[in-house]
Amino acid sequence: MANEDERGRMVEGDLRDRGISDERVLRAFLKVDRALFVPAYLFEQAYVDRALQLSHGQTISQPYMIALMLEALQLKGKEKLLEIGTGSGYLTALLAELAGEVWTVERIEYLATTAEDRLLNLGYSNIRYRLGDGSLGWTEGAPYDRIVISAACPKLPMALAEQLAPGGRLVAPVGGPDLQRLITAIKQPDGSLHEQTGVECSFVRLIGQDGYKDQG
Ligand code: SAH
Repeated sequence: MANEDERGRMVEGDLRDRGISDERVLRAFLKVDRALFVPAYLFEQAYVDRALQLSHGQTISQPYMIALMLEALQLKGKEKLLEIGTGSGYLTALLAELAGEVWTVERIEYLATTAEDRLLNLGYSNIRYRLGDGSLGWTEGAPYDRIVISAACPKLPMALAEQLAPGGRLVAPVGGPDLQRLITAIKQPDGSLHEQTGVECSFVRLIGQDGYKDQG
């Protein structure tokens, strides 16, 4: 019960009061318990509006930033969606609440298997999991109505732009390794992308063939 109260405060104070208005998005934040996705020693900070450390130098994204991404995706409920960077699986769970089917790719095995176990335990049956380099997308499921990348991209990965359906939306942080802008790219009927530039943000890097190079 305490968890629910804290979640309610996060949704009202950090999301709604700061301009998040999509009721489906707000409801999903109330339903999915972020405490289940953070390492045990960070439980007490689960509802603080900040990114938190996962293992392997990765982070679970800040709720407000995730909410902006979810609003930009404009999910209605039936979409087939590709997520790059499963991480803790927190955004994956929110996406599974809001879209029809979620295909998610993570490059770090420990994070991929931990997230998969967690999401299966929570009962999600509309998620497919893959270990690999998401900068190349996941051709088997293409085309996707929506694509979301939760790691910083030097530019929009070509394969992902190709795997987006006409009329589809791709949301990603694009820019330098330390600071990016949240970009929403909408695929036009002629296959070109119309890009909208959003807020400044700071995500961990997308490491891969069409991302940043591994620093070892
Ligand atoms: N939304 C996630 C954020 C995870 S951080 C959450 O809320 O937990 C970004 C994740 O992207 C990290 O787990 C990182 O390992 C992963 N990542 C980085 N490059 C990747 C790539 N090329 N393919 C798949 N995952 C990648």
